Amino acid sequence: MEDFDVVIIGGSIAGSVAGRYLAEAGMRTLIVEAAKTPREKPCSGIQFGYFEKLLGRKIPKDKLCQNQLKSLYMEYPNGKSFKVPFSMLNFTRDVFDNWLNEIAVEAGANFRDGVRCTEFEHKQQSFIVKLRPKHQDIEQVRTKYLIAADGLTSSIRRKLKPQDFSQKPLAPTMNYYLRTIGDGDLDPHTLYQFWNLNYNNLMFAWAYKKNDLWVIGTGHTDNVIKRCDMLLKYVKNTFRLQGDIVKREGYASTFRLDAPNHVFLGTNNLFFAGDAAGLVDMYRGLGMDAAALSGRLVAKAIIKSEKNKIPAIKLYEKKMRKVIVKINKNSEKQLLTYKSNDELLRALKKSFLKMGISTLFANLLNKILPPNKIKLLPT
Ligand SMILES: Cc1cc2nc3c(=O)[nH]c(=O)nc-3n(C[C@H](O)[C@H](O)[C@H](O)COP(=O)(O)OP(=O)(O)OC[C@H]3O[C@@H](n4cnc5c(N)ncnc54)[C@H](O)[C@@H]3O)c2cc1C
Repeated sequence: MEDFDVVIIGGSIAGSVAGRYLAEAGMRTLIVEAAKTPREKPCSGIQFGYFEKLLGRKIPKDKLCQNQLKSLYMEYPNGKSFKVPFSMLNFTRDVFDNWLNEIAVEAGANFRDGVRCTEFEHKQQSFIVKLRPKHQDIEQVRTKYLIAADGLTSSIRRKLKPQDFSQKPLAPTMNYYLRTIGDGDLDPHTLYQFWNLNYNNLMFAWAYKKNDLWVIGTGHTDNVIKRCDMLLKYVKNTFRLQGDIVKREGYASTFRLDAPNHVFLGTNNLFFAGDAAGLVDMYRGLGMDAAALSGRLVAKAIIKSEKNKIPAIKLYEKKMRKVIVKINKNSEKQLLTYKSNDELLRALKKSFLKMGISTLFANLLNKILPPNKIKLLPT
């Protein structure tokens, strides 16, 4: 049986970032990814500049979309809108995640795609992990540390804490990809946010351009397809956009992200990172920054623990404390609490100026803060 210091389940953002740091520190690291890579993942692929600090790497230009996003458009439920300059990173997850995997391999990590973790057991200070490569027999590997970075459908989290999952899918989202004739009145360098409970009762509905396609999408607990159709009609009419849907992408999970204190980082030498830890923030509509941060910090905690013998889980929890407080607080603020667009409008008017100023301030501050002190945006 092959032996590793660390086995990481999931070769996406959290998993690849953790794997790279662990391999750089000389630890025998295996990352297993169930999908064949490059793989697509339903995600808007939008982040802030500080994301590069969390990754510990500058993202090469050819890993980003041809059109970068430079401003943010916000539309209130009453149709009033404003636009502010705000630079964001824009990429597709197949290209981006594949690059992260490549740099983990360059650092010395073993990476196996098309390999699913099916089972694990804790035996005498180590884990025996069962892996199933596509169309092949199950293999077993042994490891001292196990990191579950297997996303919102985490089978490892489900095995450990089945109560964190509901019976039916929660928070469904839908994206339509459109091949258009020109851009109509839309700006390909702007991220459009539509705050309106008719389209989205989870956060905001969106429109942005990814390379040569416009993406129109939303999330809603009641008939998300109908809501996305309504939004598409609205965007097409309001911004004189002409074109056809070339791809539809739906996403739903059963993870209870709205449950109080749903973030869980692990126990003993089994750790959770990224979405599997519950770190995606439905209020901010973002999760890749917290995934990268947790990947980075779980790796640092393990490396430090090897030297000073303090349990790695204690170090990891300490490093993540502030982020967890923020995510748990945000899960209480989700839009589902608004009964009507009038109520939402009042709340937006009350909080947006304050939020805008603190976000701009934090954005400036993030330029000088070290990665583990970064303030996740919007604040
Ligand atoms: C519609 C949508 C839009 C989003 N837009 C944004 C955005 O614009 N910006 C942002 O920051 N965040 C966004 N997010 C959130 C973001 O996609 C996630 O927070 C992020 O991908 C989490 O990364 P991760 O590494 O934790 O897990 P994931 O990216 O989910 O990766 C988990 C990986 O584990 C693999 N895996 C699962 N089970 C196994 C197994 N048993 N064995 C081996 N491998 C396994 C999967 O194949 C997958 O590759 C969006 C999410 C959705 C659904």
